[in-house]
Amino acid sequence: MRVGRFDVRIFSDGLFRLDGGAMFGIVPKVLWERQKKADDRNRVTMDMNCLLIRDADNVVVVETGAGPKLTDRQKEIFGIQDPPRLLDELKTLGVRPADVTLVINTHLHFDHSGGNTYRDDGRIVPTFPRASYVFQRREWEDAIAPNERSRGSYLPDDYAPLEAAGKLELIDESVEIIPGVRLDRVQGHTRGTQTVRIADRDTTVFFSSDFMPDRHHLPLPWIPAFDLFPLDTLAAKKLILRRAIDERWIVGFTHDLPRFGRISEAEGKFRFDEVDG
Ligand SMILES: [Zn+2]
Repeated sequence: MRVGRFDVRIFSDGLFRLDGGAMFGIVPKVLWERQKKADDRNRVTMDMNCLLIRDADNVVVVETGAGPKLTDRQKEIFGIQDPPRLLDELKTLGVRPADVTLVINTHLHFDHSGGNTYRDDGRIVPTFPRASYVFQRREWEDAIAPNERSRGSYLPDDYAPLEAAGKLELIDESVEIIPGVRLDRVQGHTRGTQTVRIADRDTTVFFSSDFMPDRHHLPLPWIPAFDLFPLDTLAAKKLILRRAIDERWIVGFTHDLPRFGRISEAEGKFRFDEVDG
C-alpha cells in the first residue's frame, strides 16, 4: 500500500486462539458463532497482524506478534502451532532486524509484543538492535505492575529487558512519532492502548489496535470482555468509526485477516470492504 512517500504493508505473525466468549463480551454465542466458528474448547482463531512502514529514512515495525519465547504449555493454551513468522515476513520484504529504526506496540499484551525480544544464551535481548521501542507511558506503567485482572495478558520478558538495554521511548497521549505517523492513546482495551495513523498526501492508513480487533467488532456493542474499560471502548468506536468513514481512511485490524479495507455505513450497520494492497 502506497501512502504518499510511505510503503505500508500488513502481514500476520501467525494464528492463535482465544476463548470466543471473552472475545465477544456480552454478545450471545448464537450470534458470534455465525461470524467465527469456535473449536472444541470454545476458542476462536485469529491472526496476529503487524505493519511495516517504510520511507527513505525510517523502517518502522508495528506489533511483533507472540514471539519465540512462549513455553509449550502457553502455546497449547493459545493454540499456537507454528513458529512466529515476523522475521521471515520482514526478510521477504527485504528488511533485516538491524535495519529497523522504530518498533511500535499498540499495547504490551503478549500477542502484540512477544517478538520484541528473544532468548540468546539464556539472556533476553532486543530483536531489533538499532531500534527504539515506543509505547504509551501508561501502558508501560500498567505492564510492569499488572493487577490480578490484567496479569494473564502480560509477559514481562517481552518488554522489561528493553529498559535495561536503553531502548525504551515512552510517550504520552498523542505524538507524531515521525512526520506523517501519529500515535494516539485510546483507553478501552487497556489504559495505555494506542492506535497508529499514517498519512501523507491524500491517503490515510489507520491501524486499529485491540479496541476494535477485527471486522466482526464493528457493531457498537460487540466489545471484548477482555477490555478493562468497555464504555471507553464504546465511546472511542463511535468517534473513530465516524472519522474513518468521513475521511475515507484505509483500515487495518490487529486480529483480522492481514488485509486493508474501507469502512462504510448503511442503514445503521457498519461494513468493511477489503481494498487491494
Ligand atoms: Zn491482541
